[in-house]
Amino acid sequence: MVPKQDAYLKIPSPMVKLSGDLWYEKGIELWMKREDLIHPQISGNKWRKLEFNIEQMRKEGKSGILTFGGAYSNHIYATAAAGQLMDFKTIGVIRGEETLPLNETLAFVKSAGMTLEYVSRSRYREKASLMAEYGEKYPDFYLLPEGGSNSYALPGCAKVMDEIKTELGFSPDYVCLACGTGGTMAGLISAGVMETTVLGFAVLKGSFHGAEIKKLLAFNEKEGEPEWEVFNHYHFGGYAKSKPELLEFIQDFYTQHQIQLECIYTGKMMYGVMDLIEKDFFPKGSRIVVIHTGGVR
Ligand SMILES: *Cc1c(COP(=O)(O)O)cnc(C)c1O
Repeated sequence: MVPKQDAYLKIPSPMVKLSGDLWYEKGIELWMKREDLIHPQISGNKWRKLEFNIEQMRKEGKSGILTFGGAYSNHIYATAAAGQLMDFKTIGVIRGEETLPLNETLAFVKSAGMTLEYVSRSRYREKASLMAEYGEKYPDFYLLPEGGSNSYALPGCAKVMDEIKTELGFSPDYVCLACGTGGTMAGLISAGVMETTVLGFAVLKGSFHGAEIKKLLAFNEKEGEPEWEVFNHYHFGGYAKSKPELLEFIQDFYTQHQIQLECIYTGKMMYGVMDLIEKDFFPKGSRIVVIHTGGVR
């Protein structure tokens, strides 16, 4: 039995309206969906991706989740926290050698009861055979790919679109979010809300997101697919790369709205949205929802 999750997860996550001269002048309305408030340790979108995977794990009668990620992964962190909270075992297969002392992420997941295994970067890259190897080694575990992005991740993320509609009383013209693996974005698209264009802001260099999203959407059962687009030029140099300009933007945003963003995901997305507003990408009258996917702790 899955314990009643509502007791400790803030779902539906709150929606707040943001006021700002920039978009007021352009005749645009802007809301933020505060997925960061779902749980202090389970990053918003990571919970959405985990929800139906946990259900599936229990259905298959497995004793826990085995998953993959880097030494700073929010997904590894969220999985360990969820395991502790919801009483299932967790194994994290970490990219790269063990370095001591453990960083904050790995120290936390270990204290939450996660078993850690390390694999070399070159081995980690061979994702399919790595999955197969660990599947054989731990037959009692449910295998979840890096970032928690698989077909079961989609319906959890799709729920966010339903919540948005319920909270606003209408479907917005745009929903914007940061894009790592693209799993969350695929889930939002899979909700099939035709009135809403989904805009992703890639935090990694390269233009592989479109293909990843299409691959994940192949599992989608809904008929309609709304318009969507990934912007590939707001990554500030690549994953976990930053620039003084971005840090300053995050600071200013906090001063103005008392909402903390971070520089890996949500800061880049918000910077991109502001830039697009400035450049009149959004028509006058647009109603936009940005998703605070979490990652702040
Ligand atoms: C992991 C993460 C993302 C990226 O999600 P994907 O589904 O991999 O695209 C975005 N924001 C935050 C805060 C994250 O931790």
